[in-house]
Amino acid sequence: MALIVQKYGGTSVANPERIKKVAERVARFHSEGHQVVVVVSAMSGETDRLIKLAREIQAQPEPRELDVMISTGEQVTIGMLSMALIARGVPAKSYTGGQVRILTDESHTKARILEIDEKRMRADLDSGKVVVVAGFQGTTEHGDITTLGRGGSDTTGVALAAALKADECQIYTDVDGVYTTDPRVVPEARRLETITFEEMLEMASLGSKVLQIRSVEFAGKYKVKLRVLSSFEDNNNGTLITFEEKSKMEQPIISGIAFNRDEAKLSLLGVPDRPGIAYAILEPVGSAQVDVDMIIQNIGVDGSTDFSFTVHRNDYQKTLDLLNNTIKPSTGAREVRGDNKICKVSLVGVGMRSHAGVASKMFKTLSEEGINIQMISTSEIKISVVLDEKYMELAVRALHKAFNLDSAMPPAKG
Ligand code: ASP
Ligand code: MG
Repeated sequence: MALIVQKYGGTSVANPERIKKVAERVARFHSEGHQVVVVVSAMSGETDRLIKLAREIQAQPEPRELDVMISTGEQVTIGMLSMALIARGVPAKSYTGGQVRILTDESHTKARILEIDEKRMRADLDSGKVVVVAGFQGTTEHGDITTLGRGGSDTTGVALAAALKADECQIYTDVDGVYTTDPRVVPEARRLETITFEEMLEMASLGSKVLQIRSVEFAGKYKVKLRVLSSFEDNNNGTLITFEEKSKMEQPIISGIAFNRDEAKLSLLGVPDRPGIAYAILEPVGSAQVDVDMIIQNIGVDGSTDFSFTVHRNDYQKTLDLLNNTIKPSTGAREVRGDNKICKVSLVGVGMRSHAGVASKMFKTLSEEGINIQMISTSEIKISVVLDEKYMELAVRALHKAFNLDSAMPPAKG
């Protein structure tokens, strides 16, 4: 007997038929003697619909009130799933985040979980019930409803698994695992049998949308055994996120390729090359609540240098205005340039640690396709490049092939 937390995303609970399917799977685990806690998202499209409604009232919705609205989607699906279980003869009980005391801080629409009181869930599980909990929501110490950020039900699932010390947290979604890259771009992409926690963290932060990044961080912190799998197929292993690395022999150099079009590039040309200049540029950017990702500064020539960085594309105009109106005059820079038609393509793999030449192979592959690299950044297990966005698909396909991701041995079944 194991204690399993299963999380089902919006597409898995998109309509009553699918909810009955979920109940069927949960019932099977229950009948095998497992204790099951189920976390559900809202029906797909519901959270978007609620946000749109809110915006029709207020362009920038009041965060506390927005949380009151958008947390309702999950309250609908916990009721429906519990009913579907009870209708099958499986004892079940639904709970909102507040009812099981998922205590969060007060940052509405992006709250962080502080504490979970698992007593009530434990009592239900011990009496043979399936516990169904609303994802994405919590409550402050004053009882105000909070939400955890888009995709936050993943984090609820992992947090409950951590609190209950579950044997496994299974994230059921509309894909059957984590792939070497997005199969919509590279049809030859393969499902990974395992991926390390560190790699998953990079993939999630670099644009692979399979798991909310916070849920991965949480799983890492509490050592939750996490598995991503399809809710539409019955016998699939999905992808296990592991804490151990494979032996060097079986470790591929690259595990996956992530990409996104979420960023924009800004450059300040001809800034004085003196101590404090990076601070003088980035302090106002940070104060404007803009997160900076990549940063490049050239070697100074004749006392001046060029400075480039990337920000989220939504912050592009704001940052461009800030550079033109404030930072250029304050630093005495010569010129401001911006480009929001860029993409970032990244190779991820713990195997990079023990292999030289990954970067040069990446650059050679891109050069053979005639693709110019605008920026580069690296870490121990990742190399990212910024490219013109029109080359994104081409770059990802060429790299997938060059690093043998399409031809690698098929994962063992079983
Ligand atoms: N319903 C929320 C959203 O759409 C949370 C989730 O699905 O994980 O973002
Ligand atoms: Mg999701």
